[in-house]
Amino acid sequence: MRDCLIVDDSRVIRKVSRHILETLDFNVDEAENGREGIDKCTAAMPDLVLLDWNMPVMNGLEFITELRGMPGGDEPKVVFCTTENDVAHIREAINAGADEYVMKPFDHETLQIKLQLVGMS
Ligand SMILES: [Mg+2]
Repeated sequence: MRDCLIVDDSRVIRKVSRHILETLDFNVDEAENGREGIDKCTAAMPDLVLLDWNMPVMNGLEFITELRGMPGGDEPKVVFCTTENDVAHIREAINAGADEYVMKPFDHETLQIKLQLVGMS
């Protein structure tokens, strides 16, 4: 089973995302900010990261920058989740190492399409 780490400060978003990902046969873990996410990746590198943009302590951009610099940190597919309808933010995320992005709120079908695009579904 593939492992997915959801990094998002919203408990509701984590719950909804977890449900969708478990339906898609992922083993799901959660972190409520980038720092906690990095700690979990250090312990065990996931196959997929679903990453929020705005979070306290460490935001999504800081997370992916640190992740991509870690040993093995180039391996997980990272899908950036943003509510910002802002091309500049998306480009910033992709430049920092994100593989794809998805606009929140997303449903099962939208997320599945994005996961197909990164070879994860
Ligand atoms: Mg957030």
